Amino acid sequence: MEQHRYQVVITDCDHGSIEEEKDEFRPMGAELILAQVQKEEDLIRVCREADGLVNQYALLTRRVLENLSKCKVVSRYGVGVDSVDLKTATDLGIIVANVPDYCMDEVANQTIAMILTLIRKTAFFDRKVKSGEWDFHSGIPIYRTKGKTLGLIGCGRIGLEVAKRMAAFGVRVITSDPYLEKAPEGIELKDFDTVLKESDFISIHCPLNDSTRHLIGDEAFKKMKKKPIIINTSRGPIIDEKALIKALGQSLISGAGLDVLEREPPDSQNPLLKMDNVILSPHVGFYSVESISELKRRAAKNVVDVLMGRWPKSVVNRDVVGKTRASISI
Ligand code: NAD
Repeated sequence: MEQHRYQVVITDCDHGSIEEEKDEFRPMGAELILAQVQKEEDLIRVCREADGLVNQYALLTRRVLENLSKCKVVSRYGVGVDSVDLKTATDLGIIVANVPDYCMDEVANQTIAMILTLIRKTAFFDRKVKSGEWDFHSGIPIYRTKGKTLGLIGCGRIGLEVAKRMAAFGVRVITSDPYLEKAPEGIELKDFDTVLKESDFISIHCPLNDSTRHLIGDEAFKKMKKKPIIINTSRGPIIDEKALIKALGQSLISGAGLDVLEREPPDSQNPLLKMDNVILSPHVGFYSVESISELKRRAAKNVVDVLMGRWPKSVVNRDVVGKTRASISI
């Protein structure tokens, strides 16, 4: 009897090649289709026979999923799964998987780069020297890093990587994280207000949700006693940007390093674009050649795992256990 040849559809993706994905599917002989579609009717048409999907932005709505009678797994490139109707997927027995930890090194390094750039004022001096000014006095005072305190708002995967790196600079690391039961090694667990009060540098590593939106606003800035540098490589709306601009204007804080903004890209009139003690990057924290390659491989591997009868490394809709369409034992 001829063996069933699995069909996998990449609904859409914005990276140039799908060589890594092809490598992952080759051993099982699956047919891989790169569809690059976004509209509901197109998704239904190209994915109708698919056993599995890899997905980036295309919305996998209830209507789409209900029309995919063979689909056993959807794997999302990246962390967020907002593009997938999770409840419908779970009701239909479709496993939804993601890749939550492909860029911890990159985001941690972005954070450290921003902290050091602000402390040593390297971006500022670079602009000065290139404009003909060879004099360090315009950038003083500059403070020593050793002995200072870094406060992490959220200490999960990326927060921990940042802590490890900053410990090498002789920095004390404290964190406020309501979901940590005990402090990770080498880090002191504190309440939110204590972190605001005691930190020379504050770095945000919690997710954006209803309870963290504008977590850092007027009240929080007033509690920052050491005029800290603040870094956000997490999500823009965790900082209330109007309050940030005010805090910078009133020198409640010494500077800000922002890889993410409330509005991306920023409005050309945004005052942050004109401030010397603010450094910005265009939401690049996740990116390196290696992290993207890893993301592609692991998103594909989630699908391979399910079709080969294994649970993928990261399942988002855990309630699907016991009712999955795939032949996987619990
Ligand atoms: P994670 O889930 O491993 O860690 C998040 C931590 O935040 C957890 O320990 C959680 O307990 C904590 N937390 C939740 N609510 C909190 C609150 N109110 N106050 C303090 N802590 C709270 O996530 P991660 O992999 O470390 O990623 C952190 C964030 O980084 C992500 O949510 C994402 O928004 C962002 N990110 C940004 C980029 C980028 O390109 N700039 C790339 C990847 C991730």
